[in-house]
Amino acid sequence: MNDDSFAFLTVPRKVAGYRPAIERLKDYRPVEKKLSSEDLHSQATRCMDCGIPFCHSVGCPIENSIPEFNALVAANRWSEALAVLLETCPFPEFTSRICPAPCEGACVNGLDGDAVTIREIEGAIIDYGFESGEIRPPPPASRNGKKVAIVGSGPAGLTAAYQLNQRGFSVTVYEAAAKLGGLLRYGIPDFKLDKKLVERRVKLMEAEGITFECNVRVGSDISASFLKNRFDAVLLACGARKPRDLPAPGRDLEGIHFALDFLTNQNQVIGGEVEAVDRKYLAKGKRVIVIGGGDTGSDCIGTSNRQGALSVKQLEIMPQPPEKRGPKNPWPQWPLILRESSSHKEGSKRMFSLTTLEYLGKDGKLCGLRCAQVEWKAGKPGERPSPKIIEGSEFTIDADLVFLAMGFVGAEDDVPTLKDYPEFFACGDFVSGPSLVVRAMASGKKVATQIEKKLLGKIK
Ligand SMILES: Cc1cc2nc3c(=O)[nH]c(=O)nc-3n(C[C@H](O)[C@H](O)[C@H](O)COP(=O)(O)OP(=O)(O)OC[C@H]3O[C@@H](n4cnc5c(N)ncnc54)[C@H](O)[C@@H]3O)c2cc1C
Repeated sequence: MNDDSFAFLTVPRKVAGYRPAIERLKDYRPVEKKLSSEDLHSQATRCMDCGIPFCHSVGCPIENSIPEFNALVAANRWSEALAVLLETCPFPEFTSRICPAPCEGACVNGLDGDAVTIREIEGAIIDYGFESGEIRPPPPASRNGKKVAIVGSGPAGLTAAYQLNQRGFSVTVYEAAAKLGGLLRYGIPDFKLDKKLVERRVKLMEAEGITFECNVRVGSDISASFLKNRFDAVLLACGARKPRDLPAPGRDLEGIHFALDFLTNQNQVIGGEVEAVDRKYLAKGKRVIVIGGGDTGSDCIGTSNRQGALSVKQLEIMPQPPEKRGPKNPWPQWPLILRESSSHKEGSKRMFSLTTLEYLGKDGKLCGLRCAQVEWKAGKPGERPSPKIIEGSEFTIDADLVFLAMGFVGAEDDVPTLKDYPEFFACGDFVSGPSLVVRAMASGKKVATQIEKKLLGKIK
């Protein structure tokens, strides 16, 4: 279908890139630029319509029909490309901004060259959908009389709500927070995902007939049995938000916080929920250490620099990943390589293979960390490698503020569980543990189909 079948050989990969760091550090607006329509067209022609598209199957958890929408963009048939994308992805405006794009890791072009810029093409298609007015909120043609309660409005809960509502169920989403979106709203910063996009989607979903109840914590404000007695099915989409702690001597010093509390506070300021950054989190003029090397850690770096931190360092216990795929990580697997986010590029020092032994303090306040270098030793057969402290490698780092960003260990303690309510359904991070937005959406789609099957006995 492409108008240039050899473009994958002649056209190099191009990405839009970011606004200059000096400019973007002054605001919280999205950092990523957009490709021109000419570039989008030529990038789409790089998709070579390969016989077996791994991007769609191995790569994409929601199985987007990527070669099809690329070919339609290459042919300038945007409306059809939109229809193809929406068949599988309910909210491409989110995934196209924040998905790490496992599809690109599995692109056949990436075998001995550069993958197609699938994520940015997806973004252009959904932007076209909104700008052209083709995205409308059609309520379902009829209701089937069945009621479903969904607990949690993150991407998993929203996806299930969207699909069930489209299939005629009457859906009520209960959300503990003041605003909807889960980590899309309170975790991920605006410079990666503008919250106006979350608000626009929620408005559409309300117009489609979904009821949202904010500031309702199931388990304390209302009981799980209350939902059980009033709904035909209950879905738990409560996320995995209990943070992993780093209990070392000095943990109770002033200045040590969980990353999500810090990010939530900044997001609440931008969203107008609170007036100013809570002083205890404010990074301005401080030496910030972020412990943990993932997305959450990177978001803390970007936020600290925007608040005016004096310096930002990121400590990671794992070794520095390689620049290129290793032999045990072949294509089309997700490439386990060193990645540099826009936040890293804005100014931070990354330190690998380090463990924290002690938080150091003065007058009850944090003033530094005592750390040591580790090496990862292979365990016995079947056992994972474990870190061993290298003798004599201890050192201290000055720090005024530490953000713990070492992941999440599961759902919060007060959330209803499937153990208490085995007849309930569950999806997203609540089931898988901390993962990705696209996987939460895939899980929401799957569970919505299971609920439909259970309540109607068949799929229409
Ligand atoms: C800082 C950060 C950055 C991230 N960046 C990325 C990224 O760039 N790309 C990416 O793909 N993924 C990213 N992730 C991961 C991604 O955000 C999650 O995998 C995804 O949001 C999980 O969706 P979910 O719907 O399962 O849960 P959540 O998004 O956590 O939503 C759960 C919702 O349930 C609500 N809830 C919980 N308990 C109750 C209750 N008892 N009653 C009512 N409501 C309740 C919560 O308030 C919340 O709104 C990031 C995660 C974090 C923390």
